Order: sequence, then structure tokens, then C-alpha cells
Amino acid sequence: MNRVAKFLAYDGKVSLVCTNTTELVEEIRNLHDLTPTTTAAMGRFATISGMMGFTDIKEKDDYITLQIKGDGPMGKLISVVKRDDVTSKVKVCVDNPHVELPLKSNGKLDVGGAIGKNGFLNIINKNEVTDTNYTGLVPLVSGEIAEDFTEYFAQSKQKPTVIALGVLVNKNGVKSSGGYMIQLMPDATEEDIVKIEKALETAPTISEMISQNKSLEDIAKIVTGDENILILAQELNMIYECDCNKEKFEKGLISIGKEELSKIINEDGKADTICHFCNKEYHFSKEELEDLLNEI
Ligand SMILES: [Zn+2]
Repeated sequence: MNRVAKFLAYDGKVSLVCTNTTELVEEIRNLHDLTPTTTAAMGRFATISGMMGFTDIKEKDDYITLQIKGDGPMGKLISVVKRDDVTSKVKVCVDNPHVELPLKSNGKLDVGGAIGKNGFLNIINKNEVTDTNYTGLVPLVSGEIAEDFTEYFAQSKQKPTVIALGVLVNKNGVKSSGGYMIQLMPDATEEDIVKIEKALETAPTISEMISQNKSLEDIAKIVTGDENILILAQELNMIYECDCNKEKFEKGLISIGKEELSKIINEDGKADTICHFCNKEYHFSKEELEDLLNEI
């Protein structure tokens, strides 16, 4: 179970989301056949995406699309997040899942090298009812993901945010994965901030705390330095879910236009498509393609 919990610290002046995504990231590793480095990258990316389901999606039918495009060998990373009352639903895909790089000199997986630090983080919040978009675009800081999202919240949202993301990978797969996001409310004081900074200096990394089986509540206390945190919600969950269907792929085929579609019909006599988020295949016969052509 991928648990998520929300807390308030310092009498409501600081909010916090904490999550253990070990199972989710292992599922993503298997689904996309990831290497250790791309597991760490996609795990961090899925973890922050899923947490944003709880912090940045206000209405039930809204969804967020997140894209990271750096100049590293992984290419583009995409995630889409939706949510209901208690569950954040995440799906992810990446151009090149099989990238593997040597460890960095500090022994860590080189996520920043795989993504590349020159590029952009693009976040699109979509409101289904009003059909409006809010788009935020910031340059990448390091390609290490946590820093890049911290910058996004500072620049695009004017929200001071601390983000930690961590994935421990061993030869059997994902050993631990998780993250937390601390956001300061406008009434947070300098004193609160100093206390949090002190707590963060001595706190173990998030993946270490999760591998030591610490509860989300314990983690929240450790990283804020506040023993009296208030639990807002702790039965929240994060799952991998793709909502693709044949209709969406029909629309995709229609959108390539009359000329291209005729070419496919004449040259291939069929179309085999695959969902890059869940690997489900959708096949279109010649007759089906001709029906689509008639709709254009
Ligand atoms: Zn799918």
C-alpha cells in the first residue's frame, strides 16, 4: 500500500505531505523496465506528482500534466495526475527507460546526468469543467527533480516549499521510496523557519527513514522538529492508474489528418498503437481506419 498523510505543524502555520511510495515505484520499474538510474528518476518524479495531487488539485475532475525535458539521455518525462477524495492516481512515461550511467563520485545514482540540467519543467493544471489551463514553466535547476520542483513552487506559485524525494534501489528492485513536501503558510514566523531548517540539517534522508520502517507521522515530526504536529488525513493513498481506451487512440488517429491516415490505410492496411503509460495495445483494422477517415 502506498500511503500518504497530511499534517499541520507549528499551530497550522506549516503544512506537510508525506508519502511512502515503495510499492508504486516498484510497479513503475517493472511496467517500464527501468534501470536503477531511471528507476530513481521516475520514482522521484512519480512521488512528487502524486503528492501534488493532494496539494494542487482542488476540484475532483481536474488533472495535472507534468513534463520534464532536459538535455540528458532520458529524453522527456511525462506524468499525469488525477485524484478522488482519498486517492491520487498517477501515470508516467519516459522517452528512454533503459538509460544507465555510472554512479556519481558520492556513490549516488546520477539522476541529474540522466535527465540533464539544461531544460524545462512544465506543469499544466487543467480544469475540466471550465476547460481552462494554468501553465507554469520554469528552467531546470539540476535535473535532480526535488530542487527543480522547489524552484517551480518558489517562482510560479510564490510558495516557499521544501521538497525531499528519495528512491533506494538495490539489485532486487526498489528497497524504499518516498517523499515529503513542507509548505509555509503566510503567517509562518522566522522562528518556525529556523526550527525547520535545524530539523532538516539532522534528519536522515527520506529513503533511509522509510527503509527503517518509520511511520509517516514519525517522519513528519523529524523533518519539522515539531513534536505536536496535527494529523489532517492519514488514510490517503497513491496508485498507478492509466485511463486509456480505444476511443482516445481513435481521436489520435483522426488528429493526424486525412492525408496521413489515407497513407496508413494504403501502405499498412492497419494500425497498431500502444499506450506509453501502461503498454496496452490497441489494434485498428483497415475497415476501422476507413470509418475514422470518413469522420474527418
Ligand atoms: Zn494506458
